[in-house]
Parts: sequence; structure tokens; C-alpha cells
Amino acid sequence: MIYPKKIPNWIDGREVFFKRKSSQILKKNPTDGTELGYISSINKEEIDSVITVALKKFKILSNTSVVSRGELLKKTAMQMLLKKNEIAHIVRLETGKSMHDALLEVDGAIELGFFIAGEGRRFYGKTAPSAMPNRFAMTLRQPAGVAALIVPFNTPIANVAWKSFPALLCGNTVVLKASKDTPYTPIWFAKILKEAGVPSGIFNVIQGLGEEVGEALIHNRRVDLISFTGSTETGKHIQKVAADRLVKISLELGGKNALVVCDDCDINAAVEWSILSAFSNAGQRCAAGSRIIVFEKVYEVFKKIFIKKTEELKIGSSDTDDLGPVINGNQLSKMINILTKAKNDGISVLTGGFRIQDKKYRGGFFLAPTILENALPDSEISTCELFGPITSLYKVKNFNQALDMTNNSPFGLTAAIHTKNINRVQEFINHAEVGVVSVNGPTYGSEPHMPFGGLKQSGTGWREPRVEALNFYSQWKTIYVKHNP
Ligand code: NAD
Repeated sequence: MIYPKKIPNWIDGREVFFKRKSSQILKKNPTDGTELGYISSINKEEIDSVITVALKKFKILSNTSVVSRGELLKKTAMQMLLKKNEIAHIVRLETGKSMHDALLEVDGAIELGFFIAGEGRRFYGKTAPSAMPNRFAMTLRQPAGVAALIVPFNTPIANVAWKSFPALLCGNTVVLKASKDTPYTPIWFAKILKEAGVPSGIFNVIQGLGEEVGEALIHNRRVDLISFTGSTETGKHIQKVAADRLVKISLELGGKNALVVCDDCDINAAVEWSILSAFSNAGQRCAAGSRIIVFEKVYEVFKKIFIKKTEELKIGSSDTDDLGPVINGNQLSKMINILTKAKNDGISVLTGGFRIQDKKYRGGFFLAPTILENALPDSEISTCELFGPITSLYKVKNFNQALDMTNNSPFGLTAAIHTKNINRVQEFINHAEVGVVSVNGPTYGSEPHMPFGGLKQSGTGWREPRVEALNFYSQWKTIYVKHNP
């Protein structure tokens, strides 16, 4: 599979390139900074014509049965299974992650496809008795219309699958705004949908910068639903725009996830899970463990092993490596600047904190896995999502302090606790202000058949994927039938 030098949009069932010079965006390979291809960006007027296509096709799609839509999505998932190495290769080139990690992500996307396709034969509404004689009551789901799906870069095929499978099952047509950092992944997915028999115009992909193309998409008054996954800053902006016309909106946003290490836990296991939580996918996970909160009784021993194991991590994009580069040069510079400021503010760098520039890594966007210490809980470094391989250690006296610190965050996505004490486990489950709790495990790792989403500034409260996603991508209708008028 050769990565295209020119990366198209996908409109009405075919690749579309725009020839304007100003519309070309360079996509680099994060592993070595070389040119991968040029993205052909769409403009505002052209987006409007894509919405026209999606609207026209909506009437056709919404008249099909949900069972038949499920069948098409099952064929799509089967096709993905056959070609999983192809898409893993694209994900690897676009993100710099290893083939092993890319394949894991692809497996998750396929599994979700099969799960959602199966919902075509359930798609349950409810029936209920009525207070009125000779009448019954029921609810059913109906499509919403044209769905704008806006995705981030970090797990590209999973992000596309998470939104597209439920949106299509529910009978919506889609205009998906690709991330400029992973532009070809959704084009590949569109081609797979076509091979599976999904008619043209039902799934469209548009390319370009968020502040131009994303902006025009969210302002388009013919979009009926917006599903966004990305940073909290962009999410807040989209919510304001959407408020103007009260369009249905789901925001899946950032995190600053705490992993609590109690004094009674298996320290070596806690270190292993902390390393994976903080550094896998180069820390570019909404659920990354970026705050490691450790009881003072075991702080020094935990810290020593944590630093040692972090320094043993292998950096690179091969299957024997533990973490790869961050996505682009801007993201790398942003983190270097944040670290410089943190050092000036008296925060200690226990390990890492620099760009890796040895010969093997030259040109790539590699940041050494970084552990910080002495950051105040309310400081910028403790409260802002960094989205890179950087984590901070915090020392606490006891469980109550650990819980308070877990909750002392503008975010509420995930949290983990490591302990053998059942009471601590239960208290943490009850009181951690997050959407996902993990006990004796990592802060990430949600499964395709389970709901995922956060509280506070981590989202608007919808849950993706599982059947909960169907509540967002469809509209409920309540029906009363009086059979003896
Ligand atoms: P981002 O907010 O910069 O961009 C996300 C998408 O929004 C991109 O496609 C971008 O082009 C688009 N966009 C940017 N500005 C826009 C605008 N004004 N209008 C419309 N669209 C716009 O995020 P990113 O850097 O691509 O991804 C990282 C973020 O995603 C992190 O904050 C991470 O926590 C979050 N994330 C959340 C989840 C979750 O499920 N909660 C999952 C993955 C990633």
C-alpha cells in the first residue's frame, strides 16, 4: 500500500481534489519529518455543496431499514478485517506508532463495527401501557439528519469508527472533517464503505484546517447534529456556535487523569500500569495518566522504580519499541516550551524533558518520556492537558488526600486506583468525579462494548460507543395508538 502524494476529499462516492495552490497542506511523517503528502483542502462554498449531497442522500438512507443498514456495516467490518494490515500501515505512517500498536487500534475499530452492526437487529424502543383505555404507548428511534463528525488525530481509525458506525446505523448521512494530521485514514474508510455497498453521498470526508474548514462546517445551518472529539478549548467554542441554533451536539474532550498508588498495593504492578498510562501512544491519549498520586509511605520506593523503568523504555516506531514520536513539530515545540516554563517555575524534571535528536531519531518529533515532581496541584502543569509523554508525581498522606487531589481538576474523564483494600476501592468508585474508574489497572483501556466519556470539562455527558451512542445519533419519538377510536 503506497501512501498517496495527493490526499483527496471524498465527496459523493469519489475522490475530489481542489487545485488552488492555497488549499495544499503538507502532511509529514512524524518518525523522520519527511514529506508524506499534500492534503487538498476544501473551502466554505464547496462544503455547502457537500452538505447538499448529504441532505439529498439522507432521504434515501432514512427510508432503508435499520436491519439492512446493519448488514452493510457488518460487510464493512468484514472488509476491514480482510484489509487490516493496509489500514494499520496508513495509521502507522500518519502517527509514527508501531505496526503492533496500529493493529491493536484497528482491531478495536473492527470490533466496534461488528458490535454496532449487530444493533441493527435490536435497535430497541420501549412499549408501555397507557392510562387511557384501548391505547398503547411506545417509543422508537429515528435518524437525525446530516451528521457533522469532527475527529482528532491520536487514534485515527478508532476515532473514525467510533463515530461513523453508530451515525450510519441510525440512518444519518455523514460529513466527516478529517484531522490534518491523519487525513488519509478516513478516506480509506470511505473506500471500504463503498466496497461494502454503501451508496455514494452517504459518507463524505472533507479536508482542511479546523479554524477554516471545521469552522465552516459547524456554522452550516443545514447540519443537524455535531459530534466532536478533540480538545476542551475547541469543544467549548463549538458548543457556543451550536447554541445559536440549538443543534444536537456531543463533545468528547480532554483529560488530566489521576492514577492513585496506595501504600498497600503491588508497587511493581502499579509502576507498570503507570508507565503504560503515562507513555503509551506517546501520552497522546485523552485518558493518559498525567497525574500519578502516591502515598508518602511508598513514595520514594515507587519513584525510584518508576524513573528506572521509564529510562529503560525503548523509543521508536518498530514493534520492539515502547513509544513513538508526537504527532507534529508544533506539538513538540509546545511541550518543550511548557517544560522550560515549568523548570523556571521550580518544578523538578526527574527524567526526560528534552527532544531526542540522536542520529536514529533525526528529523522525527520524539520527546523523551518525562517525569516531573514538585508541581503544585493548582499550577498550570497540574491542571492543563499536555497530550504528550509527560506525567507528574504528587505525594499524599492518605486516601482522603488522594481522593481530593484526584477530584481537584477541571477535567473528569478517567481515574485509576491501586490498592488491595476493598473499602478504598468502593470509596474511590463512589466518589471519584470521573466517567471511567479503573481498579488496579491503567487510566485508559476502555472497550468497544462499554460506554466511554467524562464529567466536568471532559465532555457534555453523552457516551460513545456501545448502545449509548445510539441515543445521541438518533432522535426518540413517542407514539400513542388508540386502536378503538
Ligand atoms: P483539536 O481540538 O485541535 O482538533 C480536533 C478536531 O477539531 C480536528 O479535526 C480539528 O481540525 C478540528 N477543529 C479545530 N478547530 C476547530 C474549529 N474551530 N471548528 C471545528 N473544528 C475544529 O484536538 P487534537 O489536537 O486533534 O486532539 C487532541 C485532543 O483530543 C485532546 O484534547 C484529547 O484529550 C482529545 N481526545 C478526546 C477523546 C475523548 O474521547 N474524550 C478521545 C481522543 C482525543
